[in-house]
Amino acid sequence: MVRSLATCIFCKIIKGEIPSYKLVETEKVFSFLDIGPLAKGHALIIPKYHAEKFHEVPDEYLGDVLPAAKKIALALGAENYNLLQNNGRIAHQEVDHVHFHVIPKPAPGDAEG
Ligand code: 5GP
Ligand code: ZN
Repeated sequence: MVRSLATCIFCKIIKGEIPSYKLVETEKVFSFLDIGPLAKGHALIIPKYHAEKFHEVPDEYLGDVLPAAKKIALALGAENYNLLQNNGRIAHQEVDHVHFHVIPKPAPGDAEG
């Protein structure tokens, strides 16, 4: 990892200091299940570079993000899902380490859980 912050929970997840359910990992990104899923399979993808906002992430850390999102989407097999990325409190960012959400959207009436 090129840059981490000792107090950041997502940097700790990358280092294995906080447990997570790992999905895809490459040299540049790490992905895992969201602890408070909006739907079953809700995943997060994070660069292995501590930056608060998207525009601060070096390009070399972004190249693996979309392929990881595609792998997760294929694995989920969801017909409907959102790819989402929030920057700043007003835009609903809660964790200050850039992350991309993959959020399945079950059809009304689909079983959850
Ligand atoms: P944001 O609102 O910042 O875009 O999303 C932050 C996400 O991180 C939330 O969906 C929240 O449930 C998730 N999250 C926060 N802390 C942890 C954690 O310690 N482990 C995991 N797996 N997800 C977390
Ligand atoms: Zn971090």
